[in-house]
Amino acid sequence: MLSQASRLAEVQYDIRGPVLRRARELEAEGHEILKLNLGNPAPFGLVAPDAVLEEVTRSIGGAQGYSDARGIAPARLAVAEYYSERGVAVSGPDDVFLGNGVSELIVMALQALLNPGDEVLVPSPDYPLWTGAVNLCGGHAVHYRCAEDEGWAPDLEHLAAQVTERTRALVIINPNNPTGAVYSERTLKGLLDLARRHRLLVLTDEIYDQILYEDASHLCAAALAPDLPVLTLGGLSKTYRLAGFRSGWLVVSGPRGHIGDYLEGLELLANMRLCPNVPAQHAIPAALCGGVDITPLLRPGGRLRDQRDHAWRALTAIPGVDCVKPAGALYLFPRLDPEVYKIVDDQRLVIDLLEQQHLLLTHGTGFNLPSTDHLRLVFLAPVDTLDDAIGRLAEFLAGYRQ
Ligand code: PLP
Repeated sequence: MLSQASRLAEVQYDIRGPVLRRARELEAEGHEILKLNLGNPAPFGLVAPDAVLEEVTRSIGGAQGYSDARGIAPARLAVAEYYSERGVAVSGPDDVFLGNGVSELIVMALQALLNPGDEVLVPSPDYPLWTGAVNLCGGHAVHYRCAEDEGWAPDLEHLAAQVTERTRALVIINPNNPTGAVYSERTLKGLLDLARRHRLLVLTDEIYDQILYEDASHLCAAALAPDLPVLTLGGLSKTYRLAGFRSGWLVVSGPRGHIGDYLEGLELLANMRLCPNVPAQHAIPAALCGGVDITPLLRPGGRLRDQRDHAWRALTAIPGVDCVKPAGALYLFPRLDPEVYKIVDDQRLVIDLLEQQHLLLTHGTGFNLPSTDHLRLVFLAPVDTLDDAIGRLAEFLAGYRQ
């Protein structure tokens, strides 16, 4: 019997685990599954403008060799300019590492940082790759609470109480997946103050920085703390609707004094994987330098805005279901009132929903939420599909008991 490495024992990534396996089985049996479980814009007809794709096609002949391990210079320059326009003190393309999606860069950034037993502060709920990657790298993810009754803002007191002498880094996800929260300046400054007091490396995942609704505005954490070493992560998967290109970036800002050795480690890891996928890097300058404007999708009448509003109204009309209206990103994270629905095992609930209604959603504990009373629904689908899905959920909940 060939067993998996023992270091995987602490790694959980349930959002793509048993539930997805059951969905595949049902599909193999011939059932059609309505999938609102993945923030993948293209299958819902949300694709990048042709001009960006044409630029990639035009460059393909010259993209056959390895590139610089950190990525091609024009793409790193475009990323550096994007962040300096947003107030981040980036000195130039040398501060930018490109990767095969933010996912690869999250693992690299943590691998270069953590020794066994080191702790990283991660929000709860989180995008669970963060928790999984910390644990994969031998560290220990310590969750700080985000308060649903405060629009899912991080609870700064709870956060401060989680710091120990083993804490090395603070993870911020803003705008947040799964909650859709967009943090205020005050919240961000509170988070950054804590990092400053305890000399923590700040890792800020801002992949949804332009997906904002109504009057929400996004501030780069790095712009608010030029005195701190900050790693900002972003990529082409969401705003630029190119998730399949697997293209993302990590931007280093702030003083280098005590992180020089860490950065050498990061460079070593970048060199070891030779380079990120080169053809996809050519989409970066095209996309960032005016090639993609997502705002028409976000205004009233725009698809994402209408879908968010519609799905939120329909979900919150189900008895016993409430939901903080997301100010950013692509997800609704409704709460099933425990007085109405006594859910002991939310993964079981999602599997039962899948089997009875052929609808695939994600359970809240999959995002490292301690309670079993939340679900995540992706609102990338057109309004009639969302209506169908939420109708199925309502019918399921009406008769569901655990
Ligand atoms: N970070 C967050 C917060 C996400 O929600 C996602 C994808 O859903 C990722 C990172 C992964 O991004 P990428 O496609 O660039 O690997």
